[in-house]
Amino acid sequence: MTGWVAVAGLGPGADHLITPEVTSALAEATDVVGYIPYVARITPRRGLGLHPSDNRDELERALAALTMAAQGKRVVIVSSGDPGVFAMAAALFETLEAHPAFAQTDIRILPGITAMLAAAARAGAPLGHDFCAINLSDNLKPFDMIANRLRHAARGGFAMAFYNPRSAARPHQFARVLDILREECGPDRLILFARAVSTPDERLHSVTLAEAQPEMADMRTLVILGNAATRRVGQWIYTPRSALS
Ligand code: SAH
Repeated sequence: MTGWVAVAGLGPGADHLITPEVTSALAEATDVVGYIPYVARITPRRGLGLHPSDNRDELERALAALTMAAQGKRVVIVSSGDPGVFAMAAALFETLEAHPAFAQTDIRILPGITAMLAAAARAGAPLGHDFCAINLSDNLKPFDMIANRLRHAARGGFAMAFYNPRSAARPHQFARVLDILREECGPDRLILFARAVSTPDERLHSVTLAEAQPEMADMRTLVILGNAATRRVGQWIYTPRSALS
């Protein structure tokens, strides 16, 4: 039996937002590895080994998946959203680089609907013009780098999507992020807080930067800051496609 590793995105939460490609890979899998809440989304079946692990074990998890594939297993590493966006696909390649013995492994990356696109679709089209995505966690980069990127993105006129905005371990940083954004973009800029999109806990809330409070975000929230032209039309928020409008 030939083993393989598929790194699959489970989308933002709802089963109907999982792609058919990911569903097929899961149906063929012998083993599923991933962060505990993501593995919990997989329906157990006979013959399927479920291997949940803690969030910080990304490289170990990738090594475990490559090792199982070398033994002939068909392994799906699950991520939420898209596996290439602040998730397991890059961790797998990092592990591959460090362990050349696994260089010939059959690897596939199966895309998913990332949180910023699911959140944007619920709100309207806030990412209709140029935008960037920034991970606000300082686990893997210093906060100074985050602050610097925020200022450059703001000065470049980009709308921004923020992942991992605020955790219990670093509750104060998001307040600093909002201060920087107010300084760079002014008080009237629209900001959207989209929590648990596509799940029963979904909640969307949009305010101006002047009204934004750090408590509006947690780790289940995706935050989108509009650009200078982002505006409301009825219940919707959109960013015109043209920089001239
Ligand atoms: N690979 C994932 C992102 C992992 S980082 C993706 O592509 O979506 C985890 C962060 O994603 C969370 O802190 C939150 O900011 C965001 N996120 C994931 N699912 C979400 C959802 N259903 N609603 C809102 N934000 C979500």
